[in-house]
Amino acid sequence: MELKSNKFKNFFKRYGALALAGVFTVAIALTVALTVTNRDLEVSTTDLAFQLPMNNAEVIRDYDENYPQYYDILNKWQIHLGVDLTSNTDTSVMSVLDGTVTDVYSNNLEGNVVEITHANGFVSTYSSLADGVLVSEGDEVTKGQKIGEASNTAGKEFDDEIALHFMLFKDGVEVDPNDYLDLGLK
Ligand SMILES: [Zn+2]
Repeated sequence: MELKSNKFKNFFKRYGALALAGVFTVAIALTVALTVTNRDLEVSTTDLAFQLPMNNAEVIRDYDENYPQYYDILNKWQIHLGVDLTSNTDTSVMSVLDGTVTDVYSNNLEGNVVEITHANGFVSTYSSLADGVLVSEGDEVTKGQKIGEASNTAGKEFDDEIALHFMLFKDGVEVDPNDYLDLGLK
């Protein structure tokens, strides 16, 4: 009995520390793995929580990929692959997600336009902005950051109406913003 007990003590003295080190290593590896996994999950969830591009906004022309809509100013029927928003209380236009400004341009039909590239293959564009856009190409923006004011610079859509033409792309293709943003229509 005594001999066995001594053998065990000797065994523990020799290998106990090694066994403990092994257990600690596994525990640390598991903790790191779980932490990394949790962080990944948090990032993707946050990325998909879109915020509205305008506050208290009303949709005046909806997205429709199937049926053309009538454009008074052009006197034409056209497919509308965006959502037009207006607001009586606040013309501020905000980025719908964190991202990078990848284009800022203007022309007579679309007015002043800002394009923002986000994670997960999303790109958003904001047309008919007033002169004096608040961001430049290459700027990093956060979700909810004001990028400009809605206006009537998109000559093909708005006459004296102050509005935003908002578009959302996923992997290079227009998608219905109503599928991602709660515009109160669906
Ligand atoms: Zn529009």
